[in-house]
Formats: sequence, structure tokens, C-alpha cells
Amino acid sequence: MDGNGELNGWSIKKSADLYQIQGWGEPYFRINERGRVEVRPDPTQDRAIDLYELTMQLGERGLDLPLLIRFPNILQDRIRLLNESFQNAIREYGYDGTYRGVFPVKVNQQRHLVEEIVESGRPWRFGLEAGSKPELLITLAAMEDENGFIICNGYKDLAYMETALVAQRFDNMVVVVLERIEELDLAFRASEKLGIRPCLGVRAKLSSKGIGQWADSAGDRAKFGLTMSEIVHVVDELQQRDMLDCLKLLHFHLGSQVSSIIPVKNAMREAGQIYIELVKMGCEMGYLDVGGGLAVDYDGSKTDFRGSMNYDLQEYAYDVVAGIQEACEKAHVKSPTIVSESGRSIAAYQSVLIFDALGVDHVDFEDPQEPTKNDHRILDEFYETWKGIQPKNVQESWHDAQQALEEARSLFKFGYLGIRELARAEHLFWSCCEKIRQSMRRVKYVPEELNAVEDMMGAIYYCNFSLFQSAPDIWAMDHLFPFMPIHRLDEEPTVRARLADLTCDSDGMVDHFIDVEEVQRSLHLHPVTPDQPYLLGMFLGGAYQEILGDLHNLFGDTNAVHVRLEDSGYSVSNVIKGDAIDEVLRYLQYDPEEMVERVRKQAERALNKGRMTLPQLRTFMDHYENSLRGYTYLKGDA
Ligand SMILES: *Cc1c(COP(=O)(O)O)cnc(C)c1O
Repeated sequence: MDGNGELNGWSIKKSADLYQIQGWGEPYFRINERGRVEVRPDPTQDRAIDLYELTMQLGERGLDLPLLIRFPNILQDRIRLLNESFQNAIREYGYDGTYRGVFPVKVNQQRHLVEEIVESGRPWRFGLEAGSKPELLITLAAMEDENGFIICNGYKDLAYMETALVAQRFDNMVVVVLERIEELDLAFRASEKLGIRPCLGVRAKLSSKGIGQWADSAGDRAKFGLTMSEIVHVVDELQQRDMLDCLKLLHFHLGSQVSSIIPVKNAMREAGQIYIELVKMGCEMGYLDVGGGLAVDYDGSKTDFRGSMNYDLQEYAYDVVAGIQEACEKAHVKSPTIVSESGRSIAAYQSVLIFDALGVDHVDFEDPQEPTKNDHRILDEFYETWKGIQPKNVQESWHDAQQALEEARSLFKFGYLGIRELARAEHLFWSCCEKIRQSMRRVKYVPEELNAVEDMMGAIYYCNFSLFQSAPDIWAMDHLFPFMPIHRLDEEPTVRARLADLTCDSDGMVDHFIDVEEVQRSLHLHPVTPDQPYLLGMFLGGAYQEILGDLHNLFGDTNAVHVRLEDSGYSVSNVIKGDAIDEVLRYLQYDPEEMVERVRKQAERALNKGRMTLPQLRTFMDHYENSLRGYTYLKGDA
């Protein structure tokens, strides 16, 4: 190492810059002096866990990769941060009301996670939001303390409505939010039948829209929410029944990952006015629920790019509080309790998916052999092109190489070139690409079309995970998550690669990566060394990914574990073994025992006919039965 902490011209600092870890990872993730990613689950303490070492130690406990590691301390910290940000804003602006957040369960319904949120949220009387009947059942069981807080959203049938209304007699505050006008009638019917005066909210369809991929969650044609005339209708109906005291909350939701603060400010202005009007019409009110949308800076660029955000949590809280305060002061209306439903911002950071690279596919580019007199002239020309490549003619050479390959292929099609010669032509083409790529490094300005060379020459790392199970949003909406190796960060990553998952689907490929400037088509990785694991992490996937994951190619849930800081280091709990193959099959109505019988019959028949030996039969049956009981993913040593 030299004086700058550099080893062979590379340093940990360079890795940190390359992978933007400070931008997206602070204060939870950073690189330690051993060149590995470390986790600081509780940033108020100066304690770190080496992610590579942790993965190895969990491996010794039989937790194979891919492995989802959850850090409850991070979840706790996010909840603290959100609540403290609102408290700061309330204090600084002298806001005459309080804040009570809820966690939308749909973001991650895992029992241990929901329980953790209830536990960590207790000091702030943090609540839960349900978006469906099953989620309502979860929230009612999870909020067992007195003074709990539950917001009921989503489609409601009579059973949902009656359940929620009866639960309003618990020691909890349970608000049923009318999301469609039809639900008003349901509420009246349930209330009459049960003799319970309901506690209601209305979801407004704002004309202010969010931004980005989920912008359509708001606006005139949004799926949920009441138009202004519907809201007026609700108020009139309530008044007729002398039930204006039943309407307590106004809700809106701008959509998820609102990357710019401007739509938030606009929405606050509009919602503030609606709130005031409702109060003036005599509704009880008291709560203004600003929904979700608080973004996560997945690429660390702090911009309004879809994978980022141009504001921080504190600014968000300031703008929400200021917006409501301004409207209420002007109208001399009592300040409501502010409710927010941030899911992504709370849950994204708490888990890391660790997986290993199983193999590498890269283009082979040994120097080509010189053609002889007997070879076809196209090989000769190709060879000359290759020899002549220099920094000043890269663009021209790229055109020549493409043309020569095309010509060779067409000569082959018409029978003028044999398969061995075509193979040499293809080899020459790749050699040209490699030489062009090397030369490009020495030119200042690289023409745009030559980026294709870099992309083509990029390697593919085959990785032990399923995109469809662990990061479905990458497939569904080109979502960007930070990916990086979790070790060897003191070494220069010399390979550029895309990541292929285990599914046989060509969409099962990660080929968009975060960058401050523009989205990259490949990731910088280290060459894989034989017999050494190469471990990669996918970060910030704790919101939505787990629950949206599917069984494509029957890759099931991954192993998962909670790692919590303790005085003496850390503790491991809630070990959840990922799906075994037989579990996944049963889910699809297969009967694994019967499957074993069916293949055994066929094997016995082959044995009787002398087509199979007894040891062969034994090997087959052992594999078949063991595989059924085993993890759906691959063993790294296979
Ligand atoms: C999805 C959803 C949320 C959570 O949004 P985030 O962007 O994850 O904070 C909140 N409220 C409602 C009504 C939702 O549908």
C-alpha cells in the first residue's frame, strides 16, 4: 500500500465513489477498512457489522444463499427519524397539533416486521394502515395495546365494514376511510345493523398529481378517491342523518416514490382547503392524512430522477406541517392531527439480499491467428482490420469489423465459407471489439455508438437468486436498486458485467444500474477466483419486493433472518428457512409423495428391463427425494 491507502492504484475510497454507497447508504451502509460493506444498524451507536463475515457466520448455521438479512435496528431508526422529523417541524413552526404516523402494511406484511414496527413505534403511538380485508385482520391483531391507531383503506365489503366498525369499540382509534362513494351506503348499513356510530374518513381525489411511475394514484381519473361532488354528497347524507360528528379524517395519496417536493407542496395546499371546507360544513374532523409517497434515494443522486428524491425526510415534514398550518391559520380552523402513511421510506433500508455469483460468461479474446494463403480473402481482410486498430481510428474500425462479420455470415449462408472459417471470422470480430475497447480507454471523446462495444463485451455473471422472487420491480418497472459486491472493495473491479438470475427467462437479467450521471448498463465487478465465493448485495429492497415476489420457475422464498445489535455483538433470530421444493409444489396442488412413487415405478421398470443398474436407480432416487426436501436455489459449491 502507498501513502494514500492505495493498493495497486486502487483504494476503498474509489470503490465508495464508484458504487455511490455514501449517496444511497448513509448512515446505515459503508465500506470498512477491510474493503467490505459494513452495516451500522443503529447510527446513534458507533457499532458496525461486517456483512461478509456475517454472511459466512450465518452460512455456518446452515443458512445458505440467497439470504435475506433483516436489521430490525434500521427499521427502528427509520421510525424514530420520521417521528422526530415531524416533531421538529411541529416545534419549530409552533404548530398547534400533533403527528401520528401509520405504517401501510401492504409494503411488507411479514409478521415479524409488522410486530417490530408496532414495538418500535410505541413511544410515538405509531399506527398501522390496512389496504384490504386480510390486512385489516393483521392490523387488528397486531395493534393490541390501548390507544392504537388503525386506518382502514382499500376495497370494502359489508364484512370488512362491520369488522372495522365493531373494532371501533376496542380501545383503539379505527378510522374507516371511504374510498369509493358506494362505501357510504355500506357504512350506513353496517352502522344501523350494529348500532355503532362509525368513525369515518374520506379519501379525496386531488387534482394535484404526483410525479413519476405512480403519478396516476392521484388526479381526476385515479382508481380510488372521491370527487368534490361526491365529498359534498357524503357531507349532505351525513347531515341528513345527524352524523356530521362521524366524519373525522381527510385522506389523500399522491402515489409512491414522489421524487420531487413540488407535488407535495401543491397537494398540501389543495388538501388544506378541502379540510377547511369540511370543518366549515360542520364535520367533526381533527385528522388530516397525507398518505404515502415519501421517496427513497435509490441512486444517491439527490435529484428528482425517478429513482431518487430532491428533498429529505426533514424537508418533507417541514413542508407538510407548513402547508397545513398556513391553511388553518388563514381560515381560523383548529390544527388537525397530521397523519402520514409512509411505507417505502420506513421499510426499504431494513433488509439486504445477499447472493453469490455461480459462474461467468465472457467473450474469449486471445489474439487471432494470421490467415494463410489458402484462407478465404474475408479472413485476410478481417485480420488486417484487427491489426490496424488504434485510438485514432476506433470508429472506422468498428464499422469495418461489423461489415466484415456481416459479409462472412452471408458468405456462409450461400455456401462459400465453411463453419470453421465462420468460427474464425466470429473470433476475429470479438478480437476487434476487445482491441477497440482497449483503444477507447486512450481517447478523450468516445463516440456514442461505441458504447455498444462496451455493452457487447460486458460479461454476464450468473447469480444465485431469482429476480422475480426477490426484486420483481426490476422486471415490472425497471426499478433501480443499488447492487454491489460486499467484499474485495480494496481491489479494482476490472470487469463490467450484467447479472443474470437463475430463471430461464431472458428478462431475468439485471442490466440497469444506478449512477449519478445516467443509468449504467453494466456493473463493475471483480474477476471471480476459483474456489472463492464472490458475494453480491442488493440493497434497499425492503419495501414491496418481498411481497410482490412470485414463483417464476418455482424459485421460492429465500432464507431470511433477523440480525439485531446486542451489547456483546449481535443476535440472530426469526430464522425463516426459505421454501423447500416440495412446499412450492404442494402450493401448486402437487403431491410430492405421489411424485416419488411415480418416478420410482418408472425406474423399477427400467431396472427390470436391464436398462438401469441398481446403483443408478439408487443415485436417481436419492437425488429426487433429497431435492424435493431441499432449497429451491442452488448450492454455491455445485
Ligand atoms: C401504497 C400506499 C401507501 C404507501 O406509500 P409509500 O409510497 O410506500 O409511502 C400509503 N397509503 C396508501 C393509501 C397506499 O395505497
